[in-house]
Amino acid sequence: MKTAVCPGSFDPVTKGHIDVIRRTLKLFDKVIVVVMENYHKHRYCFTAEERVALLRRCLTDYERVEVDLYGGLLVDYVHKRGADAVVKGLRAVSDFEDEFQQALTNKQLNPDFETVFITASAEYMFLSSSVVKQVCEFGGDISEFVPAAVCDDIVNRIRERKSVG
Ligand code: ADP
Repeated sequence: MKTAVCPGSFDPVTKGHIDVIRRTLKLFDKVIVVVMENYHKHRYCFTAEERVALLRRCLTDYERVEVDLYGGLLVDYVHKRGADAVVKGLRAVSDFEDEFQQALTNKQLNPDFETVFITASAEYMFLSSSVVKQVCEFGGDISEFVPAAVCDDIVNRIRERKSVG
């Protein structure tokens, strides 16, 4: 059985993330979506537990998907879970440099570590969690950007946070 790990911040989950997970399921038997803390991103809008809960609600219909939370090194997590590869979505050249550096660092830490890149679908090429937060904060409609099952909760949380300051 081949297992993939799809890591990320998911702050919050977008239709672009779900698209990558859905397509990864065509290539692997099982997909573990793991919410990680990215220390370069200092201010998360959603707590790690909230990000996990939102992902789980969007992925209830996907039997071969598990959602987990991890605060350590990705190479350790992949080894612990016995996964075969990490799958990352690539949107544009701007993603490439950082992702390539991460992939090579992980390979250095564990020579068995494999990273697979999936090209973003054309319709989600522009989409990121940051875009969702920016549009929503200023009153824009994000229903095209995030899964319907969690859209209202995301909107309420972002606007509530804005009103608090
Ligand atoms: P990170 O904090 O690691 O950048 P993100 O939650 O932003 O985490 O993204 C997680 C993964 O999903 C990354 O591999 C990212 O490139 C990919 N991704 C995010 N948005 C999209 C999208 N619209 N299309 C394809 N892949 C995406």
